[in-house]
Amino acid sequence: MPEGDTIFRAARTLHRALTGKQVTAFESVFPALNRVDEDTPVAGRTVDRVHSAGKHLLIHFSGDLVLRTHMRMNGSWHIYRPGERWQRPRRDMRIVVATADFQAVGFNIPVAEFLTEKSVAKSRALRQLGPDVLSDDFDPGKVLGNLRERPGKEIADALIDQRVLAGLGNVYKSEILFICRINPFIHVKDISDADLKLLVAESRRVLKLNVSEGLELMTTYGGLRRTTAKSSPGDRLWVYGRARLPCRRCGTLIRVRKQGDDARLTYWCPQCQ
Ligand SMILES: [Zn+2]
Repeated sequence: MPEGDTIFRAARTLHRALTGKQVTAFESVFPALNRVDEDTPVAGRTVDRVHSAGKHLLIHFSGDLVLRTHMRMNGSWHIYRPGERWQRPRRDMRIVVATADFQAVGFNIPVAEFLTEKSVAKSRALRQLGPDVLSDDFDPGKVLGNLRERPGKEIADALIDQRVLAGLGNVYKSEILFICRINPFIHVKDISDADLKLLVAESRRVLKLNVSEGLELMTTYGGLRRTTAKSSPGDRLWVYGRARLPCRRCGTLIRVRKQGDDARLTYWCPQCQ
C-alpha cells in the first residue's frame, strides 16, 4: 500500500506538471466519471491545484470540479510526456488527464469520484481523516487525543487507522515502533503520554524526511552506506521485510506476524521492543 509520503510526492509532481495548464483530454474507465465528463467536460478546464490528504489525491479543476482518487493497495499516478512509453500496460490504465505538455495517468486506481468544492468539505472519507502527518498545520495534540479515544486498540493498529493519523501506512508503522522501541501489540491505554508523543513526532519526522527533494525511496535506517543506487528497499529499513534476519541494534532475529482486522504484517524485534 502506498504510504502518505508516496501520495504526497505524486501530488507534488502532478501539481508542478499540471497547475495552470488547460486540460486537452480526459479519459477514464469509470462510468460515473465518464457521465460527469459527458455532461460537463473536463477538457477545456484548467488545473487549479493538486494536493494530497492522507492517502487521497485531489485534482482541482476550474469551474468547481474536483477529482478525488484513493490508491488503496496498488494504485499509482504516473506523469509522462506526450508520446512517451508508459511503464505499465494499457489495461492497468484507469484515468488519464492530459495537457499539451504532460499526460497524468492513474494506474489501477480503485476509488475515483468527481466532487464539487462544497462536497469535498462534506465528504465523509475526507472529513473522517485524522491530522495529515505531512500537512503544514499538523496538530500532534489532536492525534494524541485520537489515540486516547482508542484505549483498547493495539498501538500498531491505531497508528495506521487513518481517522487517528492520516498518511501513515504499514511499512512505516513497523519502522516507527521500532525506532521508538515500543512493542506493536501493546494496547494504547498501557502507553505513556510521553511515548505516544514520541511516536507521533517520529511519524512526522520520518515521513517528512522521505518527502524531502531528491529522496526517492522509503528510508528509515541510515546505518548502511549506500554504495550502489540499486540497494534493495530492505537495506534502508530497520525491521520491515526483515523477518528472521538479525536486528540491526541487538542481533536478535526479527519477527513477523499478521495483526489487526485487516491482517497487516507487523515486523518487530522481540528484544528491543
Ligand atoms: Zn533488537
